[in-house]
Amino acid sequence: MRVLLVEDDKVLGDGIRVALRSECYTLDWLSDGLDAAHALSCEQFDLILLDLGLPRLDGLDILRMIRNRTDSEVPVLILTARDETSYRIKGLDAGADDYLIKPFDIDELKARIRALLRRCQGRARPLLEHAGVSLDPASQEVRYRGDVVPMTHMEFQLLHQLLARPGVVVTRERLTGTLYGWKESGQGNTLEVLIHNLRKKLHSGLIRTVRGVGYLVESHA
Ligand code: CA
Repeated sequence: MRVLLVEDDKVLGDGIRVALRSECYTLDWLSDGLDAAHALSCEQFDLILLDLGLPRLDGLDILRMIRNRTDSEVPVLILTARDETSYRIKGLDAGADDYLIKPFDIDELKARIRALLRRCQGRARPLLEHAGVSLDPASQEVRYRGDVVPMTHMEFQLLHQLLARPGVVVTRERLTGTLYGWKESGQGNTLEVLIHNLRKKLHSGLIRTVRGVGYLVESHA
């Protein structure tokens, strides 16, 4: 899953970055409101962590911009200071899904992220289960027919993104964004190699290639 963090506090941002990278998320981090608005207008993220007080463009304005776009149901978690109650209420009314008061426990942040992703994928249960494959976002464990299957971070990321939307084609751009964010994407065939690995580790019919577009797991598989 690809997360955009918009936060101008360097220490807090660094802490979040380190914590989420160890959890198989791809984190892109911006500390400027206008840069964030620009990024959000041209790229897709699975979740946004949004500070409210930001240079150049306020977090509330960014939030309104996201919610004014009809196609955007991306979950937004706002990060606020304790004394910002009225600001926080405005944030929730403007379409934020949840909030955390600074300073917060990083494990609570991780749990809230999992809950928000679950909710926006229309699941109440914590496990993603499909065609004999189960993926646990909390423990990062993947099982096939009950047996644990070891996964690299990238294989896990890719499988998580595909299993979250059975029956829906996930584009190559989206998958590449999920794997790398704004980092260099390395060799051109890496996505294919990872898909190949997943088919081999799980089962060959799990992931279907939609030529020129992307990949999907069949909803009836
Ligand atoms: Ca701030």
